[in-house]
Amino acid sequence: MTPRTRADLDTIPAYIPGKSFPGAIKLASNETTLGPLPSVRDAIADAAANANRYPDNGHVTLIAALADHLGVATENIAAGCGSVSLCQELVQATCNDGDEVIFAWRSFEAYPVVTQVGGATPVKVPLTADHGHDLDAMLAAITDRTRLIFVCNPNNPTGNALTKAELERFLDAVPSDVLVALDEAYFEYNRSDADGVALFRGRPNVVVLRTFSKAYGLAGIRVGYAVADPAVVTALSKVHIAFAVNAVAQAAAIASLAASGELLARTDGVVAERNRVRDALLAAGYEVPESAANFVYLPLGTRSGAFGAASAEAGVLLRPYGDDGVRITIGDPAENDAFLAFATSTEARSI
Ligand code: PMP
Repeated sequence: MTPRTRADLDTIPAYIPGKSFPGAIKLASNETTLGPLPSVRDAIADAAANANRYPDNGHVTLIAALADHLGVATENIAAGCGSVSLCQELVQATCNDGDEVIFAWRSFEAYPVVTQVGGATPVKVPLTADHGHDLDAMLAAITDRTRLIFVCNPNNPTGNALTKAELERFLDAVPSDVLVALDEAYFEYNRSDADGVALFRGRPNVVVLRTFSKAYGLAGIRVGYAVADPAVVTALSKVHIAFAVNAVAQAAAIASLAASGELLARTDGVVAERNRVRDALLAAGYEVPESAANFVYLPLGTRSGAFGAASAEAGVLLRPYGDDGVRITIGDPAENDAFLAFATSTEARSI
């Protein structure tokens, strides 16, 4: 006899992270190419030297630094072991069995996973023909079982950004007892006018999710945060696994916030490279949705898998998504050139 586990786990899709192999150019996980600043490395080392002690489960210093940085009250902030864990906590905090969670599809692949793990039902609303959120269809999908809506802005993997006006119209139409999670994992690369924290002000059913994994370059350290109404923050604290944000992560995030000017300045180079890569792909005849993130997307349909495999053969790892498309993280200029050399090759063009 094997131990009995939940029968419905078989129906939950596996989260498939970007793969790598030695020597590969990895453009598969939307990481930054630059390592932590010296000040951040020092903070990591100091925290590691005290690893015999439990971390601060209230994340007091980190939350104070975030509150200062964002101009919100400390009561409005929750920290998590990466923002993906906050996605899971939001489902746990809002849904009973059979309640519904709405999100666009395709979008961040953890949404269906955390929804089903939480015993809730995913309601996937197809993207528009130009690969953006169909906000009207998402509104139409709301039922009396809807508890949570994820809006990924910019959308992973397609890169599109919603405008402030589009989001305001949407948020004003959502019933006030339904929580809307504005997932802004790529906020720092977005040059459009939408700022989740500004949209959150005066809207207690909005929660903004951000992360230190992308522009702040701490993907390996695992820390993200939510900005929300104090009642939502309290609910998140109830489902939070104690000590999930470890001491090294907290110290690294605090030191990164102290260096935010320098870290955010780096995003300009990524944005310039993103635009260069997109222009080159457009010139080569690819369809490329406009991206507000640190990646671009090629809606290659059934050619996606073969394109990803051939690129990996050529030493450049991308992220294919079934029969939908392929996402390419913006790396440093040489890495991007290696990808463009593949993408414009006869081999790639003939897939
Ligand atoms: N949201 C989106 C849209 C993402 O793309 C990611 C990472 N791929 C996350 C959340 C989670 O990031 P992390 O857990 O590293 O903070």
